[in-house]
Amino acid sequence: MTPERLASIDPATGETVGTVPVTATDAIPRLVFAARQAQRGWGALTHAQRAEVLRPAAARLKQEARRLGELASREMGKPLPEAVGEANYCADSFAGELDEIAAALADFEREDKRVTSVLRFAPLGVCAAITPWNFPILMPHQSVLPALVAGNTVLLKPSEETPLVACEYARILNEFLPADVLTPVFGDGAQGRALVLADVNLIVFTGSRETGKRILGDAGPGLKRVILELGGKDPLVVLDDADLDAAAAFAVRNSFRNAGQVCVSTERIYVASSVRDEFLRKMREKTLALRQGDPRAEGVGVGPMVNARQKSKVLAQIDDAVGRGATLVAGGEPREGNFVAPTILADCTHAMEIMREETFGPVACVQAFDSVDQAVRLANDTPFGLGAAVFGRDVARASSVAERIEAGMVGVNQGCGGADGCPWVGVKESGYGFHSGPEGHRQFAQVRVISRAK
Ligand code: ADP
Repeated sequence: MTPERLASIDPATGETVGTVPVTATDAIPRLVFAARQAQRGWGALTHAQRAEVLRPAAARLKQEARRLGELASREMGKPLPEAVGEANYCADSFAGELDEIAAALADFEREDKRVTSVLRFAPLGVCAAITPWNFPILMPHQSVLPALVAGNTVLLKPSEETPLVACEYARILNEFLPADVLTPVFGDGAQGRALVLADVNLIVFTGSRETGKRILGDAGPGLKRVILELGGKDPLVVLDDADLDAAAAFAVRNSFRNAGQVCVSTERIYVASSVRDEFLRKMREKTLALRQGDPRAEGVGVGPMVNARQKSKVLAQIDDAVGRGATLVAGGEPREGNFVAPTILADCTHAMEIMREETFGPVACVQAFDSVDQAVRLANDTPFGLGAAVFGRDVARASSVAERIEAGMVGVNQGCGGADGCPWVGVKESGYGFHSGPEGHRQFAQVRVISRAK
């Protein structure tokens, strides 16, 4: 029987970019079994030895960065320079990450008067890495690398929207890895679920909150370890003393980057009433200067939505908001194909779905506030808590507002990303477990304590 094939469609043109064979769900337990067999040998190496096996893949990724970027752009529609930048980022940071992971997982000692203990970061076993389409190289990269260096073997199930570039990423790592240490699995939610239900020890997932909850439920009976990086509804608070040019530039970049299909996109903007009009004027000016269109064309900053389903969801939220009294300041009009124009909505309220549910589209929603307490209350009025930003010239005051926002990562006069080595972490329903940085890398391992009397 010929296996069913999964087609990857270019959202900008509707053309088929390529196909991969769908992994039959009943083949998944066998693949997991093979990964478990392979884990014995892979897990017997030291962290440093595993890092050395992987190290030459960095140069291969670098050689292929342009091709991977082009493929990613065609599969999900992000502008070519951003897609190539994503591939280059993975290649350039590869060696440093291997070292950071190996160092984070090195044994260390704790002792008191009676006992000397060694803390050891052992492999968990077999890891299922289930990834989304919005950063189709970076997400597999961030899930797979720490899992492998920790001594786990990995089954990588990329999004059904971007199987080709993930397949290429796995192929490059597999030029250096022993057999069955990294196995790609292709398909949609059915394959993802079959993996979660199979005999795996760790599930690393990045995607929607709803799917995260399903995975947690499916992982529960086996007490499987999970690392879930889920959605967000990130607020930006613009205080009355903010540098409005900087705040508007940040708002436009962070609301419309990757057509808003970023888990830490700015989706809600709370601006002090006294500066609302000027802030909106600046945002509108910058938004109208953006070029949207063919993601491979020179100067295009905003591409299409990944698919028609995502487009309709975004347009329905815009319609609902306008129906409930929001004012269209820019965009909003329907465009051909999968495109949604970068849109600014003012006079938003939390009665609107667009202020409560994740949008994942190029829409910036603005609501004015009269007091800092009100801004904080509105920013926290959400089940999500991934990123946030506060802009204000008085840095001490802006920082005290930042402290009060219930988010895993808050930026003051900048985006939410931390310094090198910081974890990527969400609070409330935006995350369960976390990754990146030494603290994050340890989530991919089982800590053990071996003690002896002095
Ligand atoms: P989106 O629909 O925005 O792509 P999802 O959270 O549904 O976001 O998908 C993220 C990843 O999770 C994809 O690889 C998808 O195939 C996978 N997935 C979807 N449903 C399930 C599920 N029930 N169990 C495991 N993985 C799933």
